[in-house]
Amino acid sequence: MPVTTPPIKGGVVALDENGVVLGLYEASDPQIQEKELIRHEGVLIPGFVNGHCHLELSHMKEKVPAGTGLAEFLSVVMTSRAADPEVVKKAMIEADQQMFANGIQAVGDHVNSAISAEVKAESSICYHTFVELIGFDPEVAEERVDQARDTEYHFEPQRTSITPHAAYSCSKKLLRSLAGKVDANNIFSIHNQESEEENKFFRYKKGAFIDFYAKHNISIDHITANGKNAIQNSVQFLPGGNRTILVHNTYTGPKDLDYVTRIGRDVYYCLCPKANVYIEGRVPKIQSFMLSKQKLMIGTDSFASNDTLDILEELKVIHSHVEGLTLETTLAWATINGARALKLDDKYGSLEVGKMPGLVLIENMEGLSLTPRAKVLRIV
Ligand SMILES: [Zn+2]
Repeated sequence: MPVTTPPIKGGVVALDENGVVLGLYEASDPQIQEKELIRHEGVLIPGFVNGHCHLELSHMKEKVPAGTGLAEFLSVVMTSRAADPEVVKKAMIEADQQMFANGIQAVGDHVNSAISAEVKAESSICYHTFVELIGFDPEVAEERVDQARDTEYHFEPQRTSITPHAAYSCSKKLLRSLAGKVDANNIFSIHNQESEEENKFFRYKKGAFIDFYAKHNISIDHITANGKNAIQNSVQFLPGGNRTILVHNTYTGPKDLDYVTRIGRDVYYCLCPKANVYIEGRVPKIQSFMLSKQKLMIGTDSFASNDTLDILEELKVIHSHVEGLTLETTLAWATINGARALKLDDKYGSLEVGKMPGLVLIENMEGLSLTPRAKVLRIV
């Protein structure tokens, strides 16, 4: 399955010693008749693109209870993420190797520090690092942008952006201050409507986030209930021309999607179903996104909210929740859409001549249908 072109039954892919795709052939193509082929049983695909991860939380596997809801989840992560840097580094290296073995070729990864820079520099995976801005107090807007820039420098020459973390963690002033401070290539990646409590907070200034802010001594005096969902309290304040990835979208409805379309933003919606099941016990209404023809992509989120960093496992959850989906559809979300969102599609996301997308075999398939037993084997 080359992804950007239809599947080829018994197809052949030729790669050079660096993994650059040289050609794709039908089984009957005379050009390959004399060649020695390596045969695989299953479906050959390009490497996956993991649209959302937090590598620096890799040491938190099984540390945060499942099913608490987002506000409590955030509290536990904030109060228990501190750890010996060597422990964190070891966990990040293991997570990076697992992702590579699981067929992941490129990752959009969120950070609050530079601790992952070295691991990423030495990885076989291409990372786009999103340095998060967090600051709900309007007074800290300027200094937070400066701090994020400092963190960004530690990742040079890797690919980076600075991004607001979420509507509930960034003041309007902080979001607005980014106009004029980021160039047109800066991609944003914002946690969006991961819980209904976010919507409740902005609509009515009520719900679990009230306790969350009180517990962490975060002032919410500057907020007045405005009757609008969280998505309407973030995207519109950002510079209009910049690509924006909205992550989770568990409580994003058709009206929210219409709103984003209406304001004309360049948005990709990243689904992280296993993390959603872990934290909130539900998955987004995927059919709504398909009906309104939105661009979807897939992420794993981190080991704080997932027991695997494996895109195929995310696809299995999606297929179990949505009837009639084809692998051709969801594989595009898991590869080329993520590559496009991260502006990495010149190299990754499809089997096309000249790209270096990696080569992955999905075994235990039934034709082109995903089975619960399907598993990934990295070939290149
Ligand atoms: Zn996240």
